[in-house]
Amino acid sequence: MIIEYHRPQTINEALILLSRDQPATVPLGGGTVLNQPSREAYAVVDLQSLGLDEINKHGQLLQIGATCKLQSLLELDGKSDVVLPQALCDAIRLEGTINIRQLATVAGGLVSADGRSPFGTAMLALNPTLTLLPGEEEISYGELLPLRDLKLRHRLITQIHLPLNTKLSYHYVSRSPFDLPLVSAAVAIWSSGRTRVVLGGYGEMPALAFDGPESSGAEIAAQNVFQNAGDQWASAQYRREMAVVLTKRAIADMGGRV
Ligand SMILES: Cc1cc2nc3c(=O)[nH]c(=O)nc-3n(C[C@H](O)[C@H](O)[C@H](O)COP(=O)(O)OP(=O)(O)OC[C@H]3O[C@@H](n4cnc5c(N)ncnc54)[C@H](O)[C@@H]3O)c2cc1C
Repeated sequence: MIIEYHRPQTINEALILLSRDQPATVPLGGGTVLNQPSREAYAVVDLQSLGLDEINKHGQLLQIGATCKLQSLLELDGKSDVVLPQALCDAIRLEGTINIRQLATVAGGLVSADGRSPFGTAMLALNPTLTLLPGEEEISYGELLPLRDLKLRHRLITQIHLPLNTKLSYHYVSRSPFDLPLVSAAVAIWSSGRTRVVLGGYGEMPALAFDGPESSGAEIAAQNVFQNAGDQWASAQYRREMAVVLTKRAIADMGGRV
């Protein structure tokens, strides 16, 4: 439950508010998660006046402001010299309806991603670097995600640096085409051959299954992720089997070996 609302005009003011222990104070992006009913009481620091919603391309790196909306990212594709991987656009569309995407921010989506989040799964494969304040720490999404509660205490993500020289494929199975996935696989392949496989559809966060100099061994790694991943939606055995099928499909999609 939101008990205090602040809308600072500068990043410094925001950081001062976020440094408080009492009441617990967190950044507010689009509020699609923070506005949900909750037993916890927290103050929010609305980031919308901080000018953190710009997107700039520097060579093969896309610099995305933390408060850029998911829908703005989607609309950038094709309208500028920026070409996002088609699979990332698909994952953003699956993350929520257009109404949600017009509110939800890129940083909020990365921080709140659970295992079923298509956007979080695809982004974990691409593994962007994030800038955190205070301290100007640069940290990869892969490092941040398991430590997000600890690392983001009193802090703010300001920028997301997304590599554009990476191919991405995203495959999933779900009860209906627009439902969240029961199992998903996002595979990113760099021009060097480096391959990252991330599996989603279960648990508190998407899971990195494989990060290697080439794709061989990726399916075996994928098989080992969902050992105890049974719930009301699907058994662990089903998830294990589908993880391999989807990983193979995603690698084959990009002309990689299966
Ligand atoms: C009803 C509903 C439920 C949802 N539940 C889930 C879910 O369980 N799992 C899931 O993956 N997606 C969920 N989503 C999708 C989610 O809304 C999107 O992933 C969205 O991108 C969240 O972004 P936001 O800006 O609205 O987040 P907000 O609600 O503003 O914030 C979400 C979290 O991110 C933090 N945060 C936001 N910006 C920053 C920043 N710049 N720096 C540091 N921390 C920041 C907030 O403090 C908060 O902890 C849900 C959407 C809806 C509408």
